[in-house]
Amino acid sequence: MKLAKSERLFNRSRDHIPGGVNSPVRSYSHVGGAPPFIASGQGSRILDADGNFYIDYVMSWGPLILGHAHPEVVEAIRKQAALGTSYGAPTELELELAEMITDAFPSIDMIRLVSSGTEACMSALRLARAYTGRDKILKFEGCYHGHSDGLLVQAGSGAAHLSEATSAGVTSAQASDTFVAPFNDLEQVERIFDANGEQIAAVIVEPVSGNMGLVPPEPGFIEGLRSITLEHGSLLIFDEVITGFRVLYGGYQNHVDVRPDITCLGKVIGGGMPVGAYGGRKDVMETVAPLGPMYQAGTLSGNPIAVAAGIATLNALRRPGVYESLAASTERLCAGLRAVRDEVGIDLRIRNLGSMWGFAFSDTPVTSYAEASQTDAEAYRKFFHDMLDSGIYLAPSPYETSFLSTAHSDRDIDNTLTAARDSLASLA
Ligand code: PLP
Repeated sequence: MKLAKSERLFNRSRDHIPGGVNSPVRSYSHVGGAPPFIASGQGSRILDADGNFYIDYVMSWGPLILGHAHPEVVEAIRKQAALGTSYGAPTELELELAEMITDAFPSIDMIRLVSSGTEACMSALRLARAYTGRDKILKFEGCYHGHSDGLLVQAGSGAAHLSEATSAGVTSAQASDTFVAPFNDLEQVERIFDANGEQIAAVIVEPVSGNMGLVPPEPGFIEGLRSITLEHGSLLIFDEVITGFRVLYGGYQNHVDVRPDITCLGKVIGGGMPVGAYGGRKDVMETVAPLGPMYQAGTLSGNPIAVAAGIATLNALRRPGVYESLAASTERLCAGLRAVRDEVGIDLRIRNLGSMWGFAFSDTPVTSYAEASQTDAEAYRKFFHDMLDSGIYLAPSPYETSFLSTAHSDRDIDNTLTAARDSLASLA
């Protein structure tokens, strides 16, 4: 595969952009090499600066559930751009998107639009603190909620329950306000609450984690979080930035029928444009300015072009059969991968949920970050590059989820399986 122009662009970028990328996950630090620079996308495919096509399973890390440049999304963006790009004043479009979301989520009475998932989660935590008057929060190892200070932490190795920053520049005070427990470990959560319950404003969790591969909750985990938080007067925050409108129309919470106090959204609700949101019960959301004392704002919040793209996306997703067809295509891909795995005899765990799918080079199931970090990174690196060379674009890290869109065809899946068979056979 020829990547000469991408390599030149990457070298130039490194002079002016840290690491040559505007988000670290785009760099190839986990897999080695230089990333292709993307020139365009159409449906399930992207084209790089050297003229190579790839079947894309990253889909901008989740937002593009309808594929690249979906005609209805492009038309909505074009139409709104001609009417102005931003007003910094309320619009009917924002109301329309807010109503679509509140209709789809029984737990959300009111919602505030922001511009990213990071902003949504950061604001949700501030809201939980404002509402409860408590300082601490609890998160789970391996769940990612954006890059705000208090969320860039991991469990400490020393004294029980003390957390450490995972990024330079996060103060120890910020890290010490965040407790960290292993995903799927209710006992640890109970222990932390038994010792500190009256200080904990909220538990924040990805109900299905998409940031350590694809790791669903064990039976009872989500329900247990709901009862522990209720018992201790803490709020439960679902980060559905990935899962919102991805696994079904609404959230994973609709599937498990557990109502969080606050939900964070992003990705799909912006249809590939920058939109995030946090919403919840009316009495909680009434704490947000200008109604209440919790300040949060944004020059481009509810941006009309971004909101128009989100509405067009949700309208397309509302059509009958969309999620069933997405899930069926994803199952076809994953069943094919399982068959290839069994045929070549390699330790590979494959999971799918709706149009999310993930795989791990491991001989045991992955239910936590500790287990995800034991998977075979070298095998991933080799598989990733083989697939890229065959025109299959996967996430350049073993800790991510892959995504299918409505644009992925049976032929795309067949081509993917052929490439996977070749690579896995050479790895086995
Ligand atoms: N929450 C989850 C579950 C995510 O996966 C991400 C990003 O991947 C975020 C929050 C942060 O969203 P953003 O990258 O839009 O700031």
